Amino acid sequence: MPLVVQDLRKTYPNGVRALDGISLTVGAGMFGLLGPNGAGKSTLMRTLATLQLPDSGSIHFDDIDPGTGRGDRIDVLKQPDRLRRILGYLPQEFGLYPSLSAEVTLDHFAALKGVLDGRQRKALVTELLQQTNLFDARKKAVGSLSGGMKQRLGIAIALAGSPRLLIVDEPTAGLDPTERHRFLNLLAEIGQEIVVLLSTHIVEDVRELCQAIAIIDKGRVVLSGDPRQIVETLRGKVWRRQIDKRELPALQASHQVISTQLLAGVPVVHVYADTAPSGFDPLEPDLEDVYFYQLAHGERRAAA
Ligand code: ADP
Repeated sequence: MPLVVQDLRKTYPNGVRALDGISLTVGAGMFGLLGPNGAGKSTLMRTLATLQLPDSGSIHFDDIDPGTGRGDRIDVLKQPDRLRRILGYLPQEFGLYPSLSAEVTLDHFAALKGVLDGRQRKALVTELLQQTNLFDARKKAVGSLSGGMKQRLGIAIALAGSPRLLIVDEPTAGLDPTERHRFLNLLAEIGQEIVVLLSTHIVEDVRELCQAIAIIDKGRVVLSGDPRQIVETLRGKVWRRQIDKRELPALQASHQVISTQLLAGVPVVHVYADTAPSGFDPLEPDLEDVYFYQLAHGERRAAA
């Protein structure tokens, strides 16, 4: 497996335990790291990107050359420079010079990444602009680009060094649905070539496009695997019923409530149970049910 993370732990000086024994195995393709705010996703991403050190644990990356197929194992914490050479990282927030055009910005980054030959760099910049669907906007000032375009430029920059591992931290926050869709499809395409690690708190981001996901909460992996198989673990155990809002406290006391949602303006509750609770209908579970169930009751189930 390309990326193997073992028992990572990190407690910040203020006492917050952000990583509480994270172990993960990330294969080829697009891997989704799903968790609520504060779960430890950014801490993990920054640690993988060699920007901060954990207190303990290990990270290894199998750097396979696509040309020769030959591989080399990088001990990321001991050899951060080796990982940096093959890493693309898009942090949650990044600043660019607003008055420079997308094309000039990308040209600068390509030069920084060591593409010094002018013609080669121009070809690379054109290719990256096309790949990220920014070619028509290449002359626009970065400051005038939409949120989605800026994120795609961030990806183009991250790809300029021909990475073999791409880490993208919460990239879809603030994007409208069309832009989000386009951005995720771009990542999925890139995931066909290299390892892509995407963190998000939005279930929909990982549902369709990720071959594997891990749900993390309070610095721990609470569930991981193929999202389709993960959903199967709840088959036959999720039930729903329309409710009156006033019923909710009593239901929460007597049932394992997964979520309450409005369906065409009417509150509908999803509950977890081995057999049908009275008055409830069976429901085909989806990843959102798994996610909310894990966050609300995961430890209870693990302890059962
Ligand atoms: P996520 O990306 O899932 O929202 P983070 O890794 O940002 O999670 O944060 C995990 C926990 O660590 C949170 O409680 C957060 O407040 C805390 N935290 C993050 N960075 C720091 C820091 N530099 N110093 C102290 N606490 C931090």
